[in-house]
Amino acid sequence: MRDLARRVWIVTLASLLIFVVYEIAKTLLFPNLSIVSSHVITVLVVAVMTFFVSRYALGRYAQALAEIHRQTAITEETNRLLAGVLATMREGVVIVDSQMRVALVNAAAASIFKLPAEDVGMPIDRRSTATVSEHGGEKPGTVAGLAGSAPSTRAYRLTDVTRDPAVNAAFRRVIADKTPVELRVEMAGREHRSFQLNVAALGTDLAVGVFFDISQMERLERVRREFFANLSHELRTPLTAMLACSETLITGAIDDPANRRKFLETLHRHATRMSELISDISDLSAIESGQVVLSLEPVRLRPVVTDVIAFFESQEGGSITVSTSVPDNILVQADRTRLDQILFNLIENAVKFNRPGGSVTVSAEQHDQLVTVSIEDTGAGIAASDLPRVFERLYRGDKSRSRKTEGTGLGLAIVKHLVHAHGGELSVVSELGHGSRFSFTISAAAQTAELAG
Ligand code: ADP
Repeated sequence: MRDLARRVWIVTLASLLIFVVYEIAKTLLFPNLSIVSSHVITVLVVAVMTFFVSRYALGRYAQALAEIHRQTAITEETNRLLAGVLATMREGVVIVDSQMRVALVNAAAASIFKLPAEDVGMPIDRRSTATVSEHGGEKPGTVAGLAGSAPSTRAYRLTDVTRDPAVNAAFRRVIADKTPVELRVEMAGREHRSFQLNVAALGTDLAVGVFFDISQMERLERVRREFFANLSHELRTPLTAMLACSETLITGAIDDPANRRKFLETLHRHATRMSELISDISDLSAIESGQVVLSLEPVRLRPVVTDVIAFFESQEGGSITVSTSVPDNILVQADRTRLDQILFNLIENAVKFNRPGGSVTVSAEQHDQLVTVSIEDTGAGIAASDLPRVFERLYRGDKSRSRKTEGTGLGLAIVKHLVHAHGGELSVVSELGHGSRFSFTISAAAQTAELAG
């Protein structure tokens, strides 16, 4: 605009100069021209000059107006994009001004701090804030919002959003020092959540805080740490026993015909356990990393169950009764080998954690396209506090009891992954002292399909 005004001045001065030159030239060239003729010519010349100057000035004005429209469109588009980005961000964004009033909250921040939906956007109009400082009056913020956000007439302070003193102190420090601050924030509530908060200065009088939800990351990190701690413990136990047995043999027991067989058998048992543990771990990691590809086909459920039960009956020696009530016509869409593995693990647990003379029942029922398979036992059951953890890797409930039974603590984790890979769900109900029922769902296959196996 200033550039335009300068140009108008230049053009006006130039016109004046041209007019003066014209008057001198006219007087010198036509000294005898009558006053009327002279005025007529002058009026004509001035009219022509005014026409061209006005045209030039109006042209420049139109250009300036077009530029303003272009800039406004760019700003509106930028605002629209920014609103879109802020609305879809999973991180909570809060912007506050130098008086600790909230200038903007995005949808994620509103959900983190349980703010009403109409407060998403810009609770304080930045332009009206500028007016406040210019005129010194304390006016409440007027309606404004990024494109797409609902208008709000409420003016929030940061303390209305969160009372956490650490968060408020971080924003105050950034407003004062203009240096970024990073901190970890915990939020207690129905579900405990933790955030990494990064606060940085935005222009001269604003501070922007971004809340990254790190609860899931921290949970996974804790599970990973526990897994490795448990794994090294599980591996150390058989290894220590194997070292002790081999040392005893080397230091003389090898020549003791009465005991050397006992030591060798112990050595073999622990080596077998280590080998099972390692094979379960590699199986589990292959399933978890998606390396195991299921080849799904229609499988008749009853023969698979009968085969697994037959194996346990041959092993058990008859102390536990295993029965089945799986209708013969149930067909499931499954990977035959993996279905076998699921049933094997669940029936093995039902037998292993049973009481002498107890029983195991495998049943199945179909509702529409879903088959539910249940393995029920009359064993020791699982304590309510242990139930949510039984599917964790390496988890073995009631240590004293579990240690008496062989097991890696990986069986149920493998089963859970395999059931999920089949598109089903695994669940358990159990009562301590009365037994447990593990159930999984699996898709039914069309009856007309050709059978596997
Ligand atoms: P493992 O059987 O090798 O110990 P699992 O992952 O199969 O490992 O089982 C984890 C834990 O869940 C077991 O150690 C046991 O405490 C508990 N559990 C599993 N199945 C049963 C069951 N049918 N009855 C009682 N407890 C069970």
